[in-house]
Amino acid sequence: MTVLRLAVPTPLRRLFDYLPPPGMSPSQAAGLRPGVRLRVPFGRREVIGYFVEAATGSEAPAGSLRPASELLDTEPLIGAALIELAQWAASYYHHPPGEVYSALFPKRLRDGKAHRGLGEPAWRLTDRGRGLPPGAPARSPRQAAALDLLREPGVLPARQLAEADISAAVLRALRDKGLVESTTLAEDTRTATCRESLTLNSEQAAVVAAMLDAREGFSCHLLEGVTGSGKTEVYLQLIADCLRRGRQALVLIPEIGLTPQTLGRFRARFDADIAVLHSGLGEAERYRAWEAARTGRAAVVIGTRSAVFTPLADPGLIVVDEEHDASYKQQDGFRYSARDVAVKRGQLEQCPVLLGSATPSIESIHNALVGRYSHHRLHRRAAAAELPAIEILDIRRQPLGGGVSPALLEALESCLAGGRQALLFLNRRGYAPTLQCHDCGWVAECDACDARLTVHRRRGLLRCHHCGAAHSLYRACPQCHSRELVTTGVGTEQAEGFLCGQFGEHRIYRVDSDSMQGRDSMAALVEQIDRGEPCILLGTQMLTKGHHFPGVSLVGVLDADALLFSADFRGEERMAQLLTQVAGRAGRDGAPARVFVQSRYPDHPLLQSTLSCGYAEQARALLEARRASGMPPLGHLVLLHTDCADAQAAEGFLQAVRDAAGNALPAGANLIGPLPAPLQRRANRYRSQLLLSAPNRREAQAGASLLVAEAERLPARRGLRWSIDVDPQDLF
Ligand code: ADP
Ligand code: ZN
Ligand code: ZN
Repeated sequence: MTVLRLAVPTPLRRLFDYLPPPGMSPSQAAGLRPGVRLRVPFGRREVIGYFVEAATGSEAPAGSLRPASELLDTEPLIGAALIELAQWAASYYHHPPGEVYSALFPKRLRDGKAHRGLGEPAWRLTDRGRGLPPGAPARSPRQAAALDLLREPGVLPARQLAEADISAAVLRALRDKGLVESTTLAEDTRTATCRESLTLNSEQAAVVAAMLDAREGFSCHLLEGVTGSGKTEVYLQLIADCLRRGRQALVLIPEIGLTPQTLGRFRARFDADIAVLHSGLGEAERYRAWEAARTGRAAVVIGTRSAVFTPLADPGLIVVDEEHDASYKQQDGFRYSARDVAVKRGQLEQCPVLLGSATPSIESIHNALVGRYSHHRLHRRAAAAELPAIEILDIRRQPLGGGVSPALLEALESCLAGGRQALLFLNRRGYAPTLQCHDCGWVAECDACDARLTVHRRRGLLRCHHCGAAHSLYRACPQCHSRELVTTGVGTEQAEGFLCGQFGEHRIYRVDSDSMQGRDSMAALVEQIDRGEPCILLGTQMLTKGHHFPGVSLVGVLDADALLFSADFRGEERMAQLLTQVAGRAGRDGAPARVFVQSRYPDHPLLQSTLSCGYAEQARALLEARRASGMPPLGHLVLLHTDCADAQAAEGFLQAVRDAAGNALPAGANLIGPLPAPLQRRANRYRSQLLLSAPNRREAQAGASLLVAEAERLPARRGLRWSIDVDPQDLF
């Protein structure tokens, strides 16, 4: 008996057995290749499954196996290396294989539609159609005319048939009779060429030379280069080499909408088909980009996190830009790290992987220091620009307006007066993070979350930034009816108001997720800023991501203290990265620049170390601290999350997993919890977690398997969801 083992998109972490579809011979079944799609019955529905392997028997009770309904692909649409990557990811992240396979396909293929190439839609005669005599079918002159038109060329673009007055209905009727079929005309593939590049400086040239030596087969490289050191130019020249050899390059970047400049630089450099993949695409655009990547027509594929799973005909290089960026880790569902998957993919595809950042993750620095990755460094800025020094502004006892101290205000004045641009960083949107009653102390909180409501004054709203709930602004305290309601803390909306009052003659651009809603709003903003007129850019994290604004010569961090006191083990790393990245926006054109950091804790060791040594040194100190505490990358973590409307049920579930797993834990592994998650109640669901730590990856993996097995063995509880997170980003 031949049994087909399929990955089926369900939350279950296993494969499902089916008999071959009716009409498929055992030899055909044995010859199926991994990744082909089949339509299969599942419960009372039909779903799309992905063939993984054939077996000669099944553990399912005899007679319970159902045949698959239909084979959808004769050949897999996805190459063997990517299939292997999916299997690896399902196993490493302990995620249901069907959901991982689904992540490889665009929606229309996940929905079971036929695969269609990209060329122009066309119709062609089938063998039966070709066999008909001229003039047939006699009873339908329109259909006969269509067949006559098609007879000589055999295939015609749909457009041309329409011009000859053959309607789509006529063609469909012919198709239903099996006389014609729809197809596509392949367009010419464009040959990729590269326009003029910059002359590399000696540091850049050394990196490019070393990478070219390693261009065959797998190797992983960390490019640690200060902000503005010309990392992007290094990527561009390596990609050019890749294209010259007729191979494709895959480039991952943290967020496309936010960095239209990066895309612009690629478009300006290569005369080639560049496929762009990100979450803002419509289905048709996504399909096009996916198919162009798959067939090799796209020479360069640029995308965010999920693009790491794009099929490629012939990959020659994988680049992960800003590799430290937290957005590479998916935070729900299939919780993979695109950076780590990219490295694995390079191994399977046998091509080099380049991770680049001015502030590499401690993980990657560790991998470079132990020799697992080749380590390349760029110590200097490329365009003769100096890295600005960071100065700390002690704001204790200072009168602040919109969060801005007098010293920073003065610096802003002289910056604008000098015709230059300033960038202010404040990682809090809205007007103020707290609304409070001055008389009784009442604080506006979200009904559904353990969180305060943020004041959005312009819209007259209080908003929860965790669940999205909105409430109109109170006029009086709901508790004591006092009208003395005050806000504390400053958000971007308030700072913007203050700055507009101070610098009315200049443009103030606020950049946060409230102001940057349209798809192209960031691109429009960048265009404005590129004109070079003096202005102030005020924004959240959005402003720190790899932008290149040459006219900025003043950078201010309004509230460093909000970053200082993170309970998470990655808090210091994130803070150092953020400060370095924000500071790195200054002085990119070589003009003298200043960076001010406002704090009420000017002597805090974290600030002091950011000041006295660069990120590279700080990161190495953080690595030593992780060694001492056994935290990643010197230890390995797995989190089991639950989320449930009933707090007790969630904790009880984790406790039961803990009790069951406790004795079987691999050597050296530890369980901590169950503990409430950071913001335990969110949208009226209680979140708890159980943390597993282990000295090595192998034990962490064994521990994760154990937790999953125990969680799956426990009886399902209504409304309780659980998920596993391997290599979690944040713990607290
Ligand atoms: P990074 O990606 O490291 O932040 P970029 O690649 O954006 O740095 O380079 C910063 C600036 O330096 C850009 O304006 C870029 O055009 C310029 N640049 C990079 N390499 C060179 C070079 N070899 N010669 C002259 N200018 C360069
Ligand atoms: Zn009150
Ligand atoms: Zn809420």
